[in-house]
Amino acid sequence: MKKKNNLSPEDLPPANFHQEGDMKRIAILKCSMLSNQNLCPGDAKCLVSFMRKEGEFDRYKNEDSAIVGIMDCGGCEGNGNRAVASLALLKLQLAALKENVGVLHIGTCIMKFCKRKDEIISAVKENAGIEVIEGTHKYSAPTIFGS
Ligand code: SF4
Repeated sequence: MKKKNNLSPEDLPPANFHQEGDMKRIAILKCSMLSNQNLCPGDAKCLVSFMRKEGEFDRYKNEDSAIVGIMDCGGCEGNGNRAVASLALLKLQLAALKENVGVLHIGTCIMKFCKRKDEIISAVKENAGIEVIEGTHKYSAPTIFGS
C-alpha cells in the first residue's frame, strides 16, 4: 500500500499538464540583486499589479489566473543558465504539488535595470517551452525626480 504523503511517479502531472481553458498559472522571474537587498520589499508591485490586472497582467482580466511562483535570476555573476536551472527546479517543486506553469513573466526590474537582460531572456525563451512575456507591473516612475 502506498504511504500517505509519498508521491510516486504516477502521481505527477504529465509535461502538458496545463490545458487550454484551465486557470492560467503564472511564474515571475525577478532580479536577484534587487530582491536580496530588499529594494523590492514583498514583491509588492508585481503582486498588486497582478491583483488589479494592470500592466502586463491586464491580459488576464477575463481569465482565471494565479501566480504560482516567483524566482530570481541567480545573480549578476551567473549567466542565463542560472535562470534556466531555477525554472527546472520550479517545475519539480510544482510537479510535487500537481501544478505547472503556463506563462512566465520577466519582471519589470529585469526589463528596466539589468544589463544582462537580453542574455537572460533569450536563454529562458529558448528553454522554457512556454509563453514568455517581457514585463510585469508599470508602476515605476519614468524619471526619479521628475513627474
Ligand atoms: S543579472 Fe540582472 S536581473 Fe540578475 S541580479 Fe544582476 S542586475 Fe539583477
